[in-house]
Amino acid sequence: MEERREAERRRGEEMRPPPPEWLLQHGLHRTNVDAVHTGECWAAAKSRRRRPVTRQQAIEALRQQVPACVHRRPDTTLGILD
Ligand SMILES: [Zn+2]
Repeated sequence: MEERREAERRRGEEMRPPPPEWLLQHGLHRTNVDAVHTGECWAAAKSRRRRPVTRQQAIEALRQQVPACVHRRPDTTLGILD
């Protein structure tokens, strides 16, 4: 029984944490994306012009030259600089 519990614990550790939430901050027009933020970014939290996006959408925005937020560096987090 102990062994089984140990195996379950180990399996739990192998599970990846939930993906972070990403935010796009946009300008007056929704088509103008100003910055890519991580979900916990305080700068994005202060902005009312933001919407949650998936990791893939965040990467896509960065590829389209949308500047990454300077506070949390989502571009580094997403690992697309290399
Ligand atoms: Zn930010």
